[in-house]
Amino acid sequence: MKSFDAIKSELASGASTCESLTREYLEAIDRAKHLNAFLSVFAEEAHGQARAVDRKIREGTAGPLAGMVVSIKDVMCVKGHRVTCGSKILEEFVAPYDATAVARLRKADAVIIGKTNMDEFAMGSSTENSAFGRVKLPGDESRVPGGSSGGSAVAVKAGMSTVSLGTDTGGSVRQPASFTGVVGLKPTYGRVSRYGLVAFASSFDQIGPLSLTARDSAAVLNVIAGHDDRDSTSATVPVPDFTAGLNKDVKGLRIGVPKEYFDDALQEEIRGAVQKKIDLLRNHGAVISEVTLPHTAYTIATYYILATAEASSNLARYDGARYGYRVKGAKSLTEMYTRSRSEGFGGEVKRRIMLGTYVLSAGYYDAYYRKGQKVRRLIKEDFDNAFLRVDCLITPTSPSTAFKAGEKMDDPLQMYLSDVYTTSANLAGIPGISIPCGTDRQGLPIGLQILGKQFDEETILRAADFLETSG
Ligand code: GLN
Repeated sequence: MKSFDAIKSELASGASTCESLTREYLEAIDRAKHLNAFLSVFAEEAHGQARAVDRKIREGTAGPLAGMVVSIKDVMCVKGHRVTCGSKILEEFVAPYDATAVARLRKADAVIIGKTNMDEFAMGSSTENSAFGRVKLPGDESRVPGGSSGGSAVAVKAGMSTVSLGTDTGGSVRQPASFTGVVGLKPTYGRVSRYGLVAFASSFDQIGPLSLTARDSAAVLNVIAGHDDRDSTSATVPVPDFTAGLNKDVKGLRIGVPKEYFDDALQEEIRGAVQKKIDLLRNHGAVISEVTLPHTAYTIATYYILATAEASSNLARYDGARYGYRVKGAKSLTEMYTRSRSEGFGGEVKRRIMLGTYVLSAGYYDAYYRKGQKVRRLIKEDFDNAFLRVDCLITPTSPSTAFKAGEKMDDPLQMYLSDVYTTSANLAGIPGISIPCGTDRQGLPIGLQILGKQFDEETILRAADFLETSG
């Protein structure tokens, strides 16, 4: 496993080339097939790209990500390749263009190595909802790597790509990062263009990197962030150099600890591990204070009402006529629609379409959807109030470490609760990062989450980088 910094010095000293690195990653993918992290691998194309990058390095014209090998969650378009979203309904669908984030990576000379496995349409917290089999946690294959970007987290953890692009609608970058012991960054809503990202819940979805270090995530964000004419929700705010803000101390940094995030649901060892880091920050001059986010208890309910509402609308387009899977031998149009969707979608996706359709139905719209929107505002105001007093917040990423495969599959509510500390950031549109924070008694990684103000990824990256480099 090599961070991008390590790669850059290898390239500079001539110890490796982009092509030799690409070969190493491809070999790792081959060796770790049993983890089921990848849904497609672009061996030949990646070699071709790597050779072109090596040429540019020799000529001195290489872009800022030369030497970085990236995998992409299979919910983003990579031109000419399948984009399955972990679903049978899109199994054969080939992307006609590159997502903006992917195009920007390419332009910066990153090599795109393949697409990673995921929960179907990014719905899940364990990557068990993939139509193509579950992803296994490296080190203990009876366990899950979190989700829905579980394939991306494992790709980084097991050295199958330098970084990976995932997506986070309610925690799907941060929670798998936490379960596997890597860094996962969810940028501010609107920071990264969603063009070419298959929509789950459009007002929540954000693309974000998973990486070995905060610095690597900052390097990726530098490239993928910024306005895009093709996504009207991508923000026009200026993009700073996120790596320039690193390597700083935390003296005077005001850090809030929201008491609602240290409730009874939290595994004791996680509480202890996070507390240790808070003490470390205090010892280095950070100003720690307790804050309250009073509407925290409503985040899961609000998220699952609003996200399913948006999903039911977004997923209406998979009707067997325009995209992907179409059942054979249907006798009428209605039968074709019904059977294509019944056979194409998996159980969790159907559950959410039904829930979302219900909360949007004329009779229940006010009771659920409209109410949900109001509570979303209150949750956002909780953060606004907290950020009047502090620069960032520290919480655990997830109430537990990686759980056993199958453990929560029959109990959706338990599965949903593993996002209890992450969904709030998506409801409020703020950035969040999960970084490794030791292990529990069984050696399973613990994740610490840092939440920041809108468009202030610099502060959370600075705190993350500090914790990472100060033990
Ligand atoms: N686990 C959450 C869900 O199932 C979040 C998913 C995500 O962020 N894509 O909706």
